[in-house]
Amino acid sequence: MNRLKDKKLFLLDLDGTLYVSEKIIGKTLEFLDTVVKNGGKYMFLTNNSSKSVETYIPRLNAIGIKAAEDNFFTSAQATAYYIEKNYGKNKRAYVVGTDSFKKSLLDDGFNITDELEDGIELLVVGFDTELTYKKLEEACILIHRGVDYIATNPDLACPSQFGFIPDCGAITACIEAATGKKPHYAGKPDPTMVYMASEKAGIPLDKACMIGDRLYTDIAIGNNAGVLSVAVLTGETTREEIANSEGNLVPDLICDSIDDIYEAIK
Ligand SMILES: [Mg+2]
Repeated sequence: MNRLKDKKLFLLDLDGTLYVSEKIIGKTLEFLDTVVKNGGKYMFLTNNSSKSVETYIPRLNAIGIKAAEDNFFTSAQATAYYIEKNYGKNKRAYVVGTDSFKKSLLDDGFNITDELEDGIELLVVGFDTELTYKKLEEACILIHRGVDYIATNPDLACPSQFGFIPDCGAITACIEAATGKKPHYAGKPDPTMVYMASEKAGIPLDKACMIGDRLYTDIAIGNNAGVLSVAVLTGETTREEIANSEGNLVPDLICDSIDDIYEAIK
């Protein structure tokens, strides 16, 4: 736990790490205040591409978490960065996503559509809570045409008040079942989000740590990016699961909850 003491950039998962169903976990608020008091910074790294940063901020503020736009990095932003870097903004992209995801890409100047038309070169799939069979069908048609295929995040399930619901990884699994094709995922565990967050915060990677509850996204991104990875047991992962994990899924530290991290840095 001593390895947490000199960290300045705390990269945090949200659901299952800081709260569950909008209920704050333990001393989350004290922890966040302490990070800032110690001259550090916290950033939320979320794979949820169904909600924009503008919708997150009031929801977090309502449960007491201080959050502004520069505290966020979403898989939607990572996807935009990935497309721009690898293809530029002008390639015509068909987007399977929520209106808010499509609007953020449009506002950023990307050449997107949700109509099946000629000249489409990219397929982009997000956590689409407005999914229809037509969109799935058109995604498959584009894959059969041979367009490049990108998705925001590999998470299979997203927690809700009544249990887990299909996330982006379940939508891409559905497309894969029909076409055999897997996308490139731009969000966690691809290390890009950590690199971008470190650059944005102006804090080097050796002073950063990644804290989260899901091994195949939160812990894997920390390890892939070479920062200290910390698993909390307040979400979906159990000690037993960690004991049976291997490779980039093994966290550097295991904590019962965010409270242990607060105790270590206060
Ligand atoms: Mg989580």
